[in-house]
Amino acid sequence: MSAVLLDGKQLAKEIQAEIAERVAGFKQQSGVTPCLAAVLVGSDPASEVYVRNKQRACERVGMESRLFRLESQITEDALLDLVSQLNRNAEVHGILVQLPLPSAIRTQRVLDAVHPSKDVDAFHPENVGLLSQGRPRFLPCTPHGVMQILHRSGIRASGQHAVVVGRSEIVGKPLAMLLMQKSSALGPDAANATVTVCHSRSRNLKEITRAADILIAAIGQPRFITAEMVKPGAAVIDVGVNRVAEGLVGDVDFEAVRAIAGHITPVPGGVGPLTVTMLLENTLQAARQQVA
Ligand code: NDP
Repeated sequence: MSAVLLDGKQLAKEIQAEIAERVAGFKQQSGVTPCLAAVLVGSDPASEVYVRNKQRACERVGMESRLFRLESQITEDALLDLVSQLNRNAEVHGILVQLPLPSAIRTQRVLDAVHPSKDVDAFHPENVGLLSQGRPRFLPCTPHGVMQILHRSGIRASGQHAVVVGRSEIVGKPLAMLLMQKSSALGPDAANATVTVCHSRSRNLKEITRAADILIAAIGQPRFITAEMVKPGAAVIDVGVNRVAEGLVGDVDFEAVRAIAGHITPVPGGVGPLTVTMLLENTLQAARQQVA
C-alpha cells in the first residue's frame, strides 16, 4: 500500500489564508502593517529564489517586505551597521538575514546582532534559550513547519518514538526540542514524543530509524533514507533539499519509501512551503509584540 502524501503546498495555502485574516485584523486594529526586512548578501541563485519566495509570501498575506541587497564584498562591519539600523527602525518588525553569508563574514556574529524581538528566524541565543526552556518567543521556522504538518495531518506526536536524523542548529536540534516539549500551542498531542537524535557518528543508524513511528530526515544527502531504514506504517518527513542532475530531491528515497510508509512528504512541495509560512507567522507575532 502506498503512503498518504502530506501536501505541504496545500497546507501552507490554508495556513497563509488564516494568517492573512489575522494580518487584516491586526492592521485594522493598530493601523500598522507588519514588515519583514530581508538582507541578501551576494547573488547566490538559491538564496535569490528563497528571498523572492519569502517576499511574495509576505505580499500574499498583506504584509510589507523590504529587500536590502548588498555586494558579496561587503565588510562585516558594514553588514552589522545595516542590522543595527534595522533594529532601530520602528517600521521594521522582523529581520531576516539570508544564509549562507560570504565566508569572510562571521555568520554567528551577524545573527547575534539581530535584536531578539525582531529575530523572526529564531536564531538569536536568547530565543534559542527561551525555546529550550519551553517558553519560546518565536518558533524556528522549519521545525515549526514540521510540527504543523504532523498536527494538521492528524499525526499524533505524544508518546510516539520520533527519530530525527540531523542535529543542526537550524533544523535537527530545535526540532528535537519541539517534539519533546511538554506543552505546545498546538495542544498536548503535538508534543510529548520520545525523541532520538542521530548524526554522522551514530552507530547502527538503520536499527534506530527502523524503530521510529515518526522519522524526520534533515541530513542534506540525496535519497539517504532507504526503504529498509523505515518501519512499515511510519510517518516520514523529509526536510532535505538536494540539487541533483534530475532536479531537486530530498533526503528520502521517495519512491521506495512511499511504498511502505504510512505518511510521507514530497520534495519539493513538502516542508519547504511551511518554512516560509512560519516566517510569516513570526513576523506577525513580532509586529504584535512591538506594537502592544
Ligand atoms: P547541516 O549540514 O547543518 O546538518 C546536517 C546534519 O545531518 C548534521 O547533523 C550531520 O551530522 C547529519 N548527517 C550528515 N551525514 C549523515 C550521515 N551519513 N548519517 C547521519 N547523519 C548525517 O544541514 P541542515 O540541518 O541545515 O539542513 C539539512 C537539509 O535540510 C539540507 O538538505 C537543507 O538544504 C535542508 N533544509 C531544508 C529546509 C526547508 O525549508 N525545507 C530548511 C533548512 C534546511 P554531524 O552533525 O555529525 O555532521
